[in-house]
Amino acid sequence: MSDSDASALTSRALAAIGQAQTEGELGRIEVEYLGRKSGHVSRLLSNIGQLPAAEKAALGKAANETKRFIEAALAARRAELDASRLADLAETEAIDVTFPGPPLGRGHIHVLTQIRRQIETVLESLGYQVELGPEVETEWYNFEALNLTAGHPARESWDSFYFSPDLLLRAHTSPVQIRAMQSIKDPPIYIITPGRVYRRDPPEATRLPYFSQVEGLAVDNGLTVGDMKGTLLYMIQSLYGRERKVRIRPSYFPFTEPSFEFDVSCGICGGVGCKSCRHKGWLEVGGCGMVHPQVLRNGGIDPTQWNGYAWGFGIERMAMLKHDVDDIRLFYEPDLRFLEQF
Ligand SMILES: [Zn+2]
Repeated sequence: MSDSDASALTSRALAAIGQAQTEGELGRIEVEYLGRKSGHVSRLLSNIGQLPAAEKAALGKAANETKRFIEAALAARRAELDASRLADLAETEAIDVTFPGPPLGRGHIHVLTQIRRQIETVLESLGYQVELGPEVETEWYNFEALNLTAGHPARESWDSFYFSPDLLLRAHTSPVQIRAMQSIKDPPIYIITPGRVYRRDPPEATRLPYFSQVEGLAVDNGLTVGDMKGTLLYMIQSLYGRERKVRIRPSYFPFTEPSFEFDVSCGICGGVGCKSCRHKGWLEVGGCGMVHPQVLRNGGIDPTQWNGYAWGFGIERMAMLKHDVDDIRLFYEPDLRFLEQF
């Protein structure tokens, strides 16, 4: 071993360091040359004990210099690699704080709520006020007060969810009419009762075990079927357009006398008949009629002094007619492709 060995070692190490591209490669070179046990520099010094004193000093000095050179070269190359890594990061991971962010996906009011609010706005403009009531009702408010006495065959069409013999999920919003008559007491009374109702129906394209209704009730002096039909016509034309017509057909409900179904002329064919209205020219919307005297009495109103009319329909049905939707279940599914259309 000699000085020339040391300088050859230094040259080899510096060349390797110069070519290293990563911190990992530098680490391996460091171990190879400066490792305590088997590094090249340590091996250079391993035989130093057998050398004459003069050579010993010279070799020791050369080995220390070699070690310092290599250490300095490693540190310099590390700094270089760091700097170029940061430069690359600045290039690829750059954040431009002035760049506009991606647009936020804003939601909007559900189509059923839109329709409900439109109905409320139209009727409020006629002087009706919104009345709400409990969704869990007593048998009396849900049935008895509306002339649906126990054993009445019509009760079968309001097949309901019971908590106990006297307590159930309301099958219609009509109980709110009774509660409103009781609390307002003195006619004239003009109210609408939007809200959720429940019936024991399996989910199908045209029905669900829960849906939303709006009912209207007017109690005043000398009201007529004509007043009722005019109100329905105004509401339908406000929602669907001035070209729509309304017709009423005789029907039966225990809480109105006389009772009617009301239809709206088909908006697609204008009443001529098409696939959408099953070639009838008319679409069924809901029920209506003059309030039965016994129902007024149950609400605390004297039927010899006052009379009234009432109507009711499903909000989902209104939305289906308005937007030509053929499956009611879509309104309650979280499919944005459907919901974003409205
Ligand atoms: Zn039609």
